[in-house]
Parts: sequence; structure tokens; C-alpha cells
Amino acid sequence: MIQLGIQSIQLRGQASNKSEAIKLVASLLVANGNMQAAYSDSMLQREKIANTYLGNGIAIPHGLPKDRELILQTGIAVAQFSEGVEWNSGEIVYLVVGIAARSDEHIELLANLTDVLDDAATIQRLAKTTNAMDIIDCLTKSRDNNTQTNESHTNNVHVDDFDKSIDVELNSDGGLHARPATAFVEIAKQFQSEVRVRHGSKIANGKSLVSLLKLGANKRVTIRIMVSGSDEDSALKALADAVRLGLEDEAESGHALPVTSSQVALNFSTPPIAGIAGSIGIAIGPICHFRHEKIVVAVTAQSPDIEESRLNHAIASAKVQLQNLHDEVKERSGAAHAAIFLAHIEFLSDPDLLEAAVCNIKLGHSAGWAWRDSYSKRASEVACLEDALLKERANDISDIGRRVLRLLADALEEAPTAMTEPAILVAEDLSPSDTAKLDPKMVLGICIAAGGPTSHTAIIARSLDIPAIVGAGPAVLNYQDGVMGILDGHTGNLYLNPSESDLVIARNAQQDQQAQRMAENLACYEPAMTTDGHRVEVVANIGAAAEAEQAVNAGSEGIGLLRTEFLFLQRSEPPSEEEQYKSYCEMTKALNGLPLIIRTLDIGGDKEVPYLSLPSEQNPFLGVRGIRLCLARPDLFKPQLRAIYRAGMTGPVKIMFPMIATVEELLAAKAIAEEIRKEMNANPIEIGIMIEVPSAVLMAPELARHADFFSVGTNDLTQYVLAMDRLHPSLSRQADALHPAVLRMIDLTVKAAKSAGIWVGVCGGIAGDPKGAAILTGLGVTELSMSIPSVAAVKAKVRKMSYTESVALAKRALACSTAAEVRAL
Ligand code: PEP
Ligand code: MG
Repeated sequence: MIQLGIQSIQLRGQASNKSEAIKLVASLLVANGNMQAAYSDSMLQREKIANTYLGNGIAIPHGLPKDRELILQTGIAVAQFSEGVEWNSGEIVYLVVGIAARSDEHIELLANLTDVLDDAATIQRLAKTTNAMDIIDCLTKSRDNNTQTNESHTNNVHVDDFDKSIDVELNSDGGLHARPATAFVEIAKQFQSEVRVRHGSKIANGKSLVSLLKLGANKRVTIRIMVSGSDEDSALKALADAVRLGLEDEAESGHALPVTSSQVALNFSTPPIAGIAGSIGIAIGPICHFRHEKIVVAVTAQSPDIEESRLNHAIASAKVQLQNLHDEVKERSGAAHAAIFLAHIEFLSDPDLLEAAVCNIKLGHSAGWAWRDSYSKRASEVACLEDALLKERANDISDIGRRVLRLLADALEEAPTAMTEPAILVAEDLSPSDTAKLDPKMVLGICIAAGGPTSHTAIIARSLDIPAIVGAGPAVLNYQDGVMGILDGHTGNLYLNPSESDLVIARNAQQDQQAQRMAENLACYEPAMTTDGHRVEVVANIGAAAEAEQAVNAGSEGIGLLRTEFLFLQRSEPPSEEEQYKSYCEMTKALNGLPLIIRTLDIGGDKEVPYLSLPSEQNPFLGVRGIRLCLARPDLFKPQLRAIYRAGMTGPVKIMFPMIATVEELLAAKAIAEEIRKEMNANPIEIGIMIEVPSAVLMAPELARHADFFSVGTNDLTQYVLAMDRLHPSLSRQADALHPAVLRMIDLTVKAAKSAGIWVGVCGGIAGDPKGAAILTGLGVTELSMSIPSVAAVKAKVRKMSYTESVALAKRALACSTAAEVRAL
């Protein structure tokens, strides 16, 4: 046990708040040579993540595990505040026990501390004592003499062992001191089952930090984890695995929250309304319901001819509005986000829609009535479809319908939502036009009851940088305007009427995130080098020529995935070779020597191109998509390859084939590329493939013989490995690229590539999640390609971690049984 000297006790400490109290106890630890001064910031940081209040007037502040190097020698110090210091709302602390622990030598002191926890008289005595020895004696007394009996107790209640149990040795670094015990509790709480832990004759409640600390379990002792309940098997496995792996700290855990490199899960006490994360960030403010104005139209009209002409005029004007809106959004948020408005223009040319309206007009109805009847019926039909994606298009039909209807209105009643103060906007659903009109200064966040991950609200909210939740369910609509809310766009949770302490947590987190984002953006051009000198290339995924420059400006070191589909969509014929060449050249110019990986056309699946007149397929994701389509349509593939080889003369361009499932496909595609190259007498270009089909993973050793590099497309790989449609609104939560099955696939890919001497990148969404990036780095991936806004955060994350740590993390992730376990690491 560590020695506790008089120099480690501060009596009659003065502090007006928690931070001052922590700084005081930290200064003792610094003065005693236990830690460097910077660790005190780490202690303050931890308070934002976890509550270090033990109970009954005692708190045990300690730092984050990542800052462990700042600890010089394990030690504790105690500051006494006779008047009490408010810790969290309503928690008054008299003894602040600061911990700087490299190992678990202090564990017996902690166990002694917890022994006095229930003893109010002793705590009062220690809070007022003028003799430091009273505190020292209490903390260092031999535990054999203390009040523990040899009976099995938890919280002074006799308890029994559970039948289901496992004995595990606490691994070398992990006695059950504050950090690992907190990690244990965090995991235990994820399960319904009761969890008990036996150490010798003592039994603790595995979901109580205090109870676990009371065990006084040192490193290398064997504890018995016991579980009882509906999910006891998984609980037992998760806990035993975690203990064997050393029980990482809770600060490293929580859901992967991809905004900044240090994003951590926030522990709110208010129960959440759970939705789906739509756009990251935290919003705090009153809610405000979104309302459309009421459009009034006459039912009948005199002249069908006049009405038909009014309708045609209204449709033409709506098209102009939509074109303008498209241009505006494109300018602000890029072509991909604006594309929906071009689709709306297309909708307005739908002959069925028009025909039905004209029919109504001929029956004597006004243009407005006729049009509303036509589009509403169409929208209701679409809303009843089984296909989730198509269902969402009902919202688009209503949106364009209303746009035209407004132009035919006789009167507008009930003003639409006019926000008088910044608020969290709540709605059943928002149409793309509604969302595009939002003023980011007034809209703190968006929560919609309907919608799935593909909803345009989510996409546009992301482009406007507004935190958003989709699919929150109808309950959210029952709250009044003005009700205070915290919207967590990372987890998809909305907390209404939050407690004061939750508001404090949210505000702190929001400030931290803003500061962090700024710091990360400032450092975006620095390389992503781990603390032990391992470099990871961080590049961007783009889908428009103009985005190449934006990527470079955001710190990207090149383009890891150019989705060339953008050249083929929203038009009536394929782009010419010349048009493609010009577009690629625009990018090589903007990249100025940085690499550009051009993926050949990946049409099919969810990406439809009407002018190609492709036969409709029962299972488009398993149909003629990606390279299969390229091979089937040389009229599309060959001009694209020619354009790429020509662009290859203007900068470091690489070719990447999508959806390769077999060696034959790769060889066939390469043969065509080589034929084109020879025809053009062009220089060879590196050819890589996307690994996004399970067969490609399993055949990676063979494929690697014919490819210069691999890039793992985790979006598709996840859907094919887990057999969950990547766009499915209700399955998308489970279709997690951090699922161990997907990670094991990536591991196999990296191993095959390494043996063949080629490199592996990842260009699926998980590469842009700082937590995902950490695991991927540990798996041996050397290039991470992501959407532009993620570049700075991922680089910052890589710079903060050591390669050794990430390798260990990856190993643990591979050993997990569920995606939730991986995310809890
Ligand atoms: C992927 O599947 O992970 C990928 C990057 O390709 P896309 O999302 O374009 O299918
Ligand atoms: Mg893909």
C-alpha cells in the first residue's frame, strides 16, 4: 500500500467551486512529485465525462487514461473543505481525495475510504478535524481490523452467490480501482441482469462503483463475476472479456460520436426520446413546432381552359423556383445536396400527375383543387408502398405539390412557423424545400418524428451544420412550443425538460466541441502521425469536381474515392469522353500533385440512371451494378477509361474498380483497361479495387496478385456481410460497420494485402468516424478516405493516439461479439 504522509493532506482548504477544489488537491499531488501540473487539466476534463462524487461528502477526482504519462508516481492527496464544496448540483463534498494512479497501489486506501462512506459520523469528524493524522489513520488502517466481516455483503445486506459465474484474474494493470471499476460498472449497466462480484469473502454489486471499490481487489487477484437475469450469458461474457483485457477506462468508451476527435458519450439523467442520429452536434434550447401555412383554394371554377393554363403557368414558375433553389443550395452545400431539387423538377413533368389534375379541371374543378387532389392521392399511394425508400418519396411529392399549390392559392391562412427566437425545430417531417429555407441562425437543431437515415432533412441538416435527429417517433409532437430540450445529434437522443445538471453537462460539451472543432480545423494541414511516429494518410471522398479544391482546403492529402456517378446522373444521356476528361482535369489541377483515385462507374443498386434503360431487378443490390455493369456496357466503360488515362497525364491518377466479387471480373476489367491504354499509348496507371463484397475478402490473397491496392468500401461490405440493406430505415442502426464481423473481414483483407505487399485503404463511412479511424489504423489500414468535413477531426484523432494503443484496441475490437461491445471499448 502507498504511504500517505502529512504533506498529502490539506486541512481547511478553501474553494468556491469544484474546479478550484480539484486544482487545490492537484497542486498537492504536483508538489509531492506524483504528477505533472498538466494532469490537473486532465482531472478537470474527466469531470465533464464522469461523476467522481462517491457519496456522503467524498469525491475522488482523477484524470483521463490517455494522460497517464503525466503521472510520475502513484499517489493520492486529500483536501478537506470543512464548509463543503458543491460538486454537482446538490452534492456537497467535504473530503476531496485526488488520485494520480499509474497502478493500483492505492487500492487499499480507496477501499478504506469506501468503508467509511456509510459512516456519517466519521465523515463529519474527518470534515472538521484539525489533525491530519485522523484522515491518514482512517485511510491507511489495516483492513483486517476494519469493520468488514467475513460474511458476503453488498451495501450491508446479506447476499448470495448466483449460479452463473466465472472466475477471472484481474490483469496486471487492472486492480479494481476507480477507473477500471467505473468501466466495469458501465458495461454491467448495459445488461438487464443483476451482476455481482465476489472477491474472497466479499460480494459487491457489479453495477455500483462504491460497492466494487469496497472489494479492495488488487491486481492479479481472482474475482468471481456472477450474473442472473435474462441476458446473463452475454453479460457474463462481456464482463469477463473486459476484465481479461484490462478494463479500459470509461473515458475511452461510449458510442462512437463522429464530430471531434475527443467526442465522448454524455451521461444525462433525463430520459431520452430516442431517434436516429441525423446530423452531429448538440443543440440546447426551447422546441418550436414547424407549421405550414394553410393554402386555400376554390373547389370549382368557370372555365376549364383558364384553369388549365393557370396550372401550366404555376408548374412552369415552380420549375424556375426549383432551379433557383438548386443553384443556391449547390453554391452553399455542393452539387450532391442540391440534386434533390433537380429531381423535383423531374417530378413536375410526371405525366400521370398532370393528367389527373387536368381531368379534375375538366370536371369543373379549380386548378388548385384539381392539382391538390392529384398530388395528394399520388403521395398517399406512395406512402403506402412497402419499399422504405420509395415511401420516403411521398414527402417529395407533397413538397412539390405544395410548391405549385401555393402559386394557385386563393388565400394563405395560418401563417407558417415564424421563429422569434433560436429554437430546436420539431416536425412530423420536413420537406427538402422546408429544410433548405431554414435559417441556421434561428434553428439550433432539428428533430423530426418521421424519416429514416436517407431522409433529405438529415442530408440537408448536415450540409447546414445543424444538429439533427430523424425518426424520433410521434411522441415528440406532443410537447408544447417552448419546452426546453437538449438534442444530441451524435446519439440521436432528444432530452425534453432536462434537469439543471444535464443542461450544465450539455453546455459544457457544446463549448468543448466548438473549441475542439476550431483547434482541429486550425491543425488540419498537419499530417496524421501517431504519437509513436506511424503515419496514416487522410484523404477525401468526393462526388463533384469542385469538391477537390474544398478537400484540399480542409486538409485532405488527396482523393481516396472519386464517385464518378455524379457525371452520369441527372441528365438525359451519358457524358462524353471529353466532358469526363475535362472534369477529371479540373480535379488534378485543384489537387496540384496530390493523388486522385478515380472509381469507375458504380451505377446500379440504389443509383438509377433513367436514360440507360436498365431492366428493373428484383434485388438491385445483388444485380448488375458496379463493375458488372461496366463489363456489360463497354459503351460506358471504355470512354470513361479513355478519359481517365488522358487525365493520368495531368496528375497522379489511379483507377479503382467498384464491386469486384471475383478474380474473373478483375481480370476482365483490367484487360479492357490495358487494351485502352495500349490504343492510346498512355502511361500505365495503378489499378486498385474496392473490397466491398464478402467474396472479395475471402479471395483477397488471389485478388491482391492482380491489384495495386485495396480500398475497403465498408458501406457495402457491411450490408453484404450482415445482410442488411444499407438504406433500410429500421435496419440501419444495426448495420454497423464496427460490427466485429465487418472488422474481421477488414482484418483478413489487410493480412492478405500485407502478404502480397500492397496497401489497404478504407473509404466507407466508418473511416471518417474518429473512433472507427482508431480501430482501422490498429488493423493496419494505411489510408483513410472520408467525407470532407471529417478530415480535420480524424487527423486530430490519429495525432493523439499511439499506434501501439490502436493495435491493442483493434485486437480487442476483433475479439468482441457485438457491435455494441466494440463501441463500448
Ligand atoms: C462503400 O461501399 O463503402 C463505398 C465507399 O462506396 P459507395 O458508398 O459509393 O457504394
Ligand atoms: Mg460501395
